[in-house]
Amino acid sequence: LPNGLTLTAARQAAARAYELDRRHVFHSWSAQAQIDPMTISASQGCYVWDGEGNRLLDFSSQLVNTNIGHQHPKVVAAVQQQAAKLCTVAPQHVNDARSEAARLIAERTPGELNKIFFTNGGAEAVEHAVRLARLHTGRHKVLARYRSYHGGTETAINLTGDPRRWPNDHGNSAVVHFFGPFLYRTQFHAGDESEETERALAHLEQTIAFEGPSTIAAIVLESIPGTAGIMIPPPGYLAGVRALCDKYGIIFIADEVMSGFGRTGKWFAIEHFEGVTPDLLTFAKGVNSGYVPLGGVAISPAIAATFDNRAYPGGLTYSGHPLATAAAVATITAMADEGIVENAAEIGARVLGPGLRELAEHHPSIGEVRGTGVFWALELVRDRATREPLAPYGGTSAAMTEVVAACRAAGLLMFVNFNRLHVVPPCIVSEAEAKEGLAILDRALTVADQHTS
Ligand code: PLP
Repeated sequence: LPNGLTLTAARQAAARAYELDRRHVFHSWSAQAQIDPMTISASQGCYVWDGEGNRLLDFSSQLVNTNIGHQHPKVVAAVQQQAAKLCTVAPQHVNDARSEAARLIAERTPGELNKIFFTNGGAEAVEHAVRLARLHTGRHKVLARYRSYHGGTETAINLTGDPRRWPNDHGNSAVVHFFGPFLYRTQFHAGDESEETERALAHLEQTIAFEGPSTIAAIVLESIPGTAGIMIPPPGYLAGVRALCDKYGIIFIADEVMSGFGRTGKWFAIEHFEGVTPDLLTFAKGVNSGYVPLGGVAISPAIAATFDNRAYPGGLTYSGHPLATAAAVATITAMADEGIVENAAEIGARVLGPGLRELAEHHPSIGEVRGTGVFWALELVRDRATREPLAPYGGTSAAMTEVVAACRAAGLLMFVNFNRLHVVPPCIVSEAEAKEGLAILDRALTVADQHTS
């Protein structure tokens, strides 16, 4: 294996890890007795190795996270060097890794989002973005989209517009959900993209009016919703949201935890929508490809100035942790030096997009192909005419389980959500690797086709 383990040693270590895991580890989002988690023994580039030593092409990027790929030598070295130099400091002290990471991030975020508050991950970033917006505006409500994911902590899960909110919502969150644009599954039978933009913006403005504009601190949305299905906003929608925020004094929070740092073929997904700048932008994952936990909020000058002479009431022991921010410095630098964002754009436009659309031509189970860069989703259906999903919203199905198993058996690891297969390899994916994944998908989708009517 690439980490130097022999196959026998890797299998022995994996067997012990599995046994201890099942005895002592409590898993996220799971019925503990019903899961059979896969062991990862090693990883390199776009590949991971399971507990048996089988190599799998990682089209999941480990929860859409390792944009720079696995075990990038410059990032591994940066973490090792930082560990040798300075492992931890309290956040009130300056540390050079954090300063440099903040500069590199601020230089890339859109507009003048020049101040960075660091967290340990995406959900905390969302928590602090909402807190900043509430304190800045003196208002309490937050609007968020149905079909969205914003994290597992208290405010973030209440903002989330997917079924994971249902058991966690105790009705005291001051969050109101609205329907963003989603032409393929709109409940309102809009015609084309421009009508869908109009419908979604009219609905949002009505929601604002009925909730009371003076009570609304922020609108939170993913610039391109990720886990919910990679629905690219139609032209004019995000500009319209920006205009509504300006009209009513509402803070625009763009959640780029999944879509940021190259995933869509630009540093941030919002750059696909010219002239739209959020007031707050949340990030995590791709900022350092998850080598050490890190997230944060990029803050506009106006919101930052609110706290020039008033204390910001929030903080974290590990805010801007040296190991995490050293990994961010190395990741962002390598991504820039090695043209990794450009690679994501190119592979998406030239290989993944055309390849997935070609699959849709001969697999009746593909209802729609959506995406950009290395951020794609296949909407699998039982019937193209009725668009009946291959698994129900919030659930799974034997058909989906079989397709995913067929991918894995053939050496491809997928990110799956309900009836969707997400094609989200690392941004470094090569043409050959992308084609290898497409070929496996082609074969696995024949399993899904058998469940179509
Ligand atoms: N926001 C978005 C858009 C996400 O996709 C995620 C995680 O997938 C989060 C927030 C939460 O991030 P974390 O799991 O790091 O808390």
